[in-house]
Amino acid sequence: MGHELWMYILTLTFSGGLSLSLCLFAHFKLRNAPGAGPYKILTLLSAIFTFSYAFELSGSTLAEIQFWLGIEYLFMPFIPVFTLLMCLEYAGHKLGKRLYFSLFIIPILTIFMHHTNKLHHFYYSAVRLRENTPFPVLDLEYGFWFYVHAIFLFVCLMFSMIILLLRLRRSFWRFRMQILLMTAGLAVPIVANHYYLNDLSPYGIDLGPVSMSISFILHGIALFSFQMFNLAPIARDTVFESMKEGVIVLNQNGAIVDFNQAMLPVMPDLKQSAIGKHIHDVLHGNSTLRKVICSGKNGDYVWENEGEQVHFQVQFSPVYSLNKDPIGRIISLADVTEKVNMQKTLKRLASIDSLTQIYNRAYFLSEMESSLSTLSPGSDVSLIMFDIDHFKHVNDTYGHEAGDLVLVQIAGLVKNSLRKRDIIGRYGGEEFMIYLPDTPAHDAHLLIEAIRLDIAGSPIIVDDNRISITSSFGLSHTNVSADNLDNPSKILLKHADLALYDAKRNGRNNVQRYGEILHA
Ligand code: GH3
Ligand code: MG
Ligand code: MG
Repeated sequence: MGHELWMYILTLTFSGGLSLSLCLFAHFKLRNAPGAGPYKILTLLSAIFTFSYAFELSGSTLAEIQFWLGIEYLFMPFIPVFTLLMCLEYAGHKLGKRLYFSLFIIPILTIFMHHTNKLHHFYYSAVRLRENTPFPVLDLEYGFWFYVHAIFLFVCLMFSMIILLLRLRRSFWRFRMQILLMTAGLAVPIVANHYYLNDLSPYGIDLGPVSMSISFILHGIALFSFQMFNLAPIARDTVFESMKEGVIVLNQNGAIVDFNQAMLPVMPDLKQSAIGKHIHDVLHGNSTLRKVICSGKNGDYVWENEGEQVHFQVQFSPVYSLNKDPIGRIISLADVTEKVNMQKTLKRLASIDSLTQIYNRAYFLSEMESSLSTLSPGSDVSLIMFDIDHFKHVNDTYGHEAGDLVLVQIAGLVKNSLRKRDIIGRYGGEEFMIYLPDTPAHDAHLLIEAIRLDIAGSPIIVDDNRISITSSFGLSHTNVSADNLDNPSKILLKHADLALYDAKRNGRNNVQRYGEILHA
């Protein structure tokens, strides 16, 4: 075997080794780069092809050479498809299933045609060894299917280039260099193929395998630098994963580009395979969150997690390219449960009287005001102010603690006699207020009379003492009409207070009604 042949075989072995190394590199180091999957398969196919070609060249008989050619043709026909798939993925396109599989039709037919060539000679019309070469090299005459395969290869490469160049137009300057590298990577095998097909290469040796490993280096650099410069992976490793907020990054079409671990408990359907899928498809099991995210507006999301409510603040932040084109959105979910619960507690503390657990004066008044503002003109409203009779005596006789208990019991008793819409509040000391919306004075009077009798008839038992309690009630009423909408609550309060004063003067343990209809 000649010195020259050894050089070719060594070069091929080196190229095959290079492709294989790039395949391993892609497997371990290019997990997140778009296009890395097809790139890995591509480099593997090419490595097998290149090694087989080295064996072909070292073959000494036509049969041996043809055997290795057959092996090459099990793998090589798929190379154009995976090149195209790599470029599509790199540029952010996703093919439908049907189109994806149809790309494999011609390569499979090529394999079939190649391996059954003896029957029809569609692939090679003649296969023999070249003359005047220092070592055996195939001399092939091509049949029509070879040209189908060649055109398919060319079309795939052209499409790949076009896809990359179109992508180039709307890329950051930083990615432009990589896309140009990818494109240059495609140009290398095109030039090499041109030499081979036009019989310009030495002894008709196919430079394709060698050129491919060179182009894979360019592709590998492009993918690797994409991974390096891509904002998402940098953020992932440092800030992204350590964030307490759940974050999803979507491209402008709503497809998921990235997400962090904090997102997983809320959206368990988010797996690595969710990348590239539309957010709506991933959220089909969670209609509430889907609605919030579909709205595209900042909002709240309450997540029921094992019987507990977790409150999230959902925020959308648009992402713009350097050219100010919108290129995607970041959706963040911040857990605000603690804040919400704190707000609830604060609101409770601010609104509830700590002893009797009914509304305090300020909250009662604000609730009454807001209720009054929602009532339709003509509605009847009643307000009762009541005061426990001789309460000082209770304290003096049974102690302050017993007095407290009496206040709690009375508040509870009255509250239980009211409807859901009615409001009771502690006005201060042993004075209480009851607001009855949509209640005419007559009905209010009947209700209060019943409550008065109930209190008087239910002595409160404290430490074996039966403490009999009575209360005095002042009732005021108004008819919400256009001309007294101004400040009905103030007038109601004033009149109820006057009526209560009357009730005390009247001997206590009775209900007095402020007689006038206010709007007059
Ligand atoms: P009247 O029938 O005229 O209402 O007589 P009264 O003794 O109920 O009225 P007065 O205003 O003289 O006394 C009210 C008492 O209520 C005085 C005060 O110490 C007591 N008091 C106010 N707030 C509380 C409380 O939170 N707990 C207890 N145990 N007593 C309270
Ligand atoms: Mg009193
Ligand atoms: Mg009092």
